[in-house]
Amino acid sequence: MTDTATRPTALSHWLNGQPTAGTSGRTAAVYNPATGQVQAEVPLASRAEVDAAVQAARAAAKAWRPVPLGRRAEIMFRFRALIDQRRDELARIITREHGKVHSDALGEIARGLENVDYACGIPNLLKGGYSESASTGVDVYSIQQPLGVVAGITPFNFPAMVPLWMMCNALACGNAFILKPSEKDPSASLFLASLLREAGLPDGVLTVLHGDKEAVDALLEHPDVAAISFVGSTPVARYIYETGTRHGKRVQALGGAKNHMVVLPDADISMAADAAVSAAYGSAGERCMAISVVVAVGGVGDRLVQAIQERIPNVQVGPGDEAGNEMGPLISREHRDKVAGYVAGAEAEGAQLLVDGREDAVPGEGFFLKPSLIDHTQPGMRCYDDEIFGPVLSVTRVDTYEQALQLVNDNPYGNGTAIFTRDGGVARQFQFDCEVGMVGINVPIPVPVAYYSFGGWKASLFGDTHMYGPDGIRFYTRSKVITSRWPDPATSKVNLGFPTNG
Ligand code: NAD
Repeated sequence: MTDTATRPTALSHWLNGQPTAGTSGRTAAVYNPATGQVQAEVPLASRAEVDAAVQAARAAAKAWRPVPLGRRAEIMFRFRALIDQRRDELARIITREHGKVHSDALGEIARGLENVDYACGIPNLLKGGYSESASTGVDVYSIQQPLGVVAGITPFNFPAMVPLWMMCNALACGNAFILKPSEKDPSASLFLASLLREAGLPDGVLTVLHGDKEAVDALLEHPDVAAISFVGSTPVARYIYETGTRHGKRVQALGGAKNHMVVLPDADISMAADAAVSAAYGSAGERCMAISVVVAVGGVGDRLVQAIQERIPNVQVGPGDEAGNEMGPLISREHRDKVAGYVAGAEAEGAQLLVDGREDAVPGEGFFLKPSLIDHTQPGMRCYDDEIFGPVLSVTRVDTYEQALQLVNDNPYGNGTAIFTRDGGVARQFQFDCEVGMVGINVPIPVPVAYYSFGGWKASLFGDTHMYGPDGIRFYTRSKVITSRWPDPATSKVNLGFPTNG
């Protein structure tokens, strides 16, 4: 029997500046991961709904493009103020659907806000170049113009920050933006859309369309979508890049990760252990910049492992909305069970399971799994090779810096890495040598600030530009170069020679 008091909320799309019910008849369940209960149903858009949304966005893009830069900046400033005022409410929405603890959700919002700050500077960011007298009486200048309708497809693990990575720059550059958020935690996007409307964004310029593969494929194949930004797992990122570019689109597709933290013998053990525990188990390991492998170099292994192991029982695991908890549940039952499978299989692969997160379970039906620590992992073991995306930290022991570097560079992923040492020369050499897009020196999660750009190498990114910052502005605009002359008609004559700069 269904109790109306607990009946799941029916969520909407966001079209033309208002919540709009889905018409496909298909929906997906949205869980509260801390209780295991279904709390909402999200509509899954059909191809026809995608097409209608793209047509509406096209019309909105036409009207948005000539809006003055100062006005666009003003909307971003107001958007910033609104997020700032309501960050607690947004954090609660994130915790309810994603599961991460409230303080972590606030951290995600703070890092997302940086991208609004950056987009507030759009008049400055879109300045072109001007060369006076490139030839006699001839001036040359460049301008950046928007692409039209652009789309973003985002993962579950940062339901506010990753949409903000994309939408602020895309909109400020003068595009209409269609967001297809993760169907697992779709409400943060709807909240952001309502704030942008309140900030003065004209209706139709931002669309939030929920969906699964059907909606994504429709966006990838739609002739009126000019560009796709994607963040998610590597197999899907590769598919998005290949399909989108085959359909003539500009694509940036960020994928998964396996981030190594190299700890050299001269490192401060206590600081390295604090960093490893924070970066491995924060957000239950569901961060693409989480540390999943600690590489202990030389004689540092035993002391470091002991220091990490001592800290693990102090990590408070429980519902994200209860004060004091530091780590919440995983996103779904299936994912929790998959992560637990890696822990279960570690010893049979030859590794040593030092802390088993399956023990001492959190009571109730929530998708919890406590931190696990696996020592003596090596390439070839599933627990080392795969992106587990859960609260599982592996330790690999090597003798030398060169062996540590080789592990980092042999890995198919290249999202983030970190080195812990007191030796500036070795740290600089590591920065020079490692084949990874984002490097931390005594910083375990080196997510670049919004005025740089975010992106991994190798299987962690498909495309030519990184996300947000200067690369984001480049991605969401095309440049045009104008060569101009205002001659005196009296001096005009036919000249078939190739123009030179005389
Ligand atoms: P996911 O790849 O399953 O889903 C991402 C998006 O793609 C969602 O919107 C989803 O609806 C859509 N999607 C899923 N399967 C699809 C398919 N077959 N065809 C078309 N669209 C599809 O990723 P996730 O589980 O939501 O997020 C976790 C992954 O994202 C991890 O691998 C993590 O490393 C990665 N991630 C990477 C970064 C980065 O910056 N590199 C940042 C955050 C997360």
